[in-house]
Amino acid sequence: MSGTSAASAAALAAAFADAYGHAPEGVWRAPGRVNLIGEHTDYNDGLVLPFALPLGVSVAASRRDDDVVEVRSLQADGTVTAPLSGTPGDVRGWAAYPVGMARVLREHGVGGATLLIDSDLPQGAGLSSSAALECATAIALCDLHGVWIAPAELARLAQRAENEHVGVPSGIMDQSASMLSSAGSALLLDCRSGLTSNVPFAPGEAGLTLLVVDTRASHELTGGEYARRRAECEKAAEILGVDALRDVKDLPAALGRLSDPVLRRRVQHVVTENHRVEATVGLLRAGAVAEVGGLLLASHMSLRDQYEVSWPEADVAVDEAVRAGARGGRMVGGGFGGSVIVLTRTESADRVRNAIEAAYQARSWTPPVFLDETAPSAGAHRLV
Ligand code: ADP
Ligand code: MG
Repeated sequence: MSGTSAASAAALAAAFADAYGHAPEGVWRAPGRVNLIGEHTDYNDGLVLPFALPLGVSVAASRRDDDVVEVRSLQADGTVTAPLSGTPGDVRGWAAYPVGMARVLREHGVGGATLLIDSDLPQGAGLSSSAALECATAIALCDLHGVWIAPAELARLAQRAENEHVGVPSGIMDQSASMLSSAGSALLLDCRSGLTSNVPFAPGEAGLTLLVVDTRASHELTGGEYARRRAECEKAAEILGVDALRDVKDLPAALGRLSDPVLRRRVQHVVTENHRVEATVGLLRAGAVAEVGGLLLASHMSLRDQYEVSWPEADVAVDEAVRAGARGGRMVGGGFGGSVIVLTRTESADRVRNAIEAAYQARSWTPPVFLDETAPSAGAHRLV
């Protein structure tokens, strides 16, 4: 079940009635996201440019007057019932996301609710099903209880729910993209100020397709390597006497002051990646969508050679895509596994897909999986 159509909202409402014995008061939805460009810039106080996917999480819900949240998911087993007044850690597993969200919103006047969750977004694939689940729950609860919170603030509260109640120290990008995106746009987010602005991004209208390719490679190393990269950035910032690498203005001078070649490579990536985000925004605002391909490719090479977080399946996917005529592409996410995006003319999309599949087959790798729908889509909203 699921999708954005009224029909699937009606199907979820019917499933809610089956599960709980009464109709829901409404159905809400929040999308997953892909980051177009700006990788490993977020924790350096820099810029990111995600966009919302057509895929997401829907929540059918009704109010309760007993300060309890009751949740079920069509993608998980069991029913979880928890008091709004509970403490972080007393609900574990998937239910910690919606219950944590409700607990954070309780401070803002939200009461109890009964929820049924459904999703067409793969979980744990780097497309941010967790933020979609938090944001869909947040707008459902606020709407039900007549509480109005500005979307940017709601994104921060969703981040808090994930940080405090699930225990994942995630940044603000995923929740901002899920709450604040609009159709046909990417969302420029300044991770220092928290300010955002919508940037036109509609590849389809320019005869282009953005492919999202799950490389099917695992991220076993991600945790340790991710922490190491963050520590290297902090160390470089300290040596350079800046609050964050975002503040490096003169790159050659900064590189000259770092004797460790590893730190030099990390700084090179972070500083140039912020410039690539700005250049991408400039091209998109000028309507030159196809030209963004070159920046995606430059981002990939920087992540591969300077930041050293790409993985063989990603490198092969990007190389093969370009050889088959794509405008560009790059790994997305923290690295060492996950997805790749490719920007290609729509008429070449099949050829690009086939080239990537053939290259994987020739290496006896698990076949890649291509997301069906990737058009930049609307942020969290009520369906019915
Ligand atoms: P990502 O956000 O990249 O998808 P995360 O590990 O951050 O990966 O979040 C995935 C987790 O979110 C799942 O393990 C599950 O706990 C929860 N989740 C996401 N979607 C659903 C759903 N439809 N039903 C239940 N839990 C979900
Ligand atoms: Mg997540």
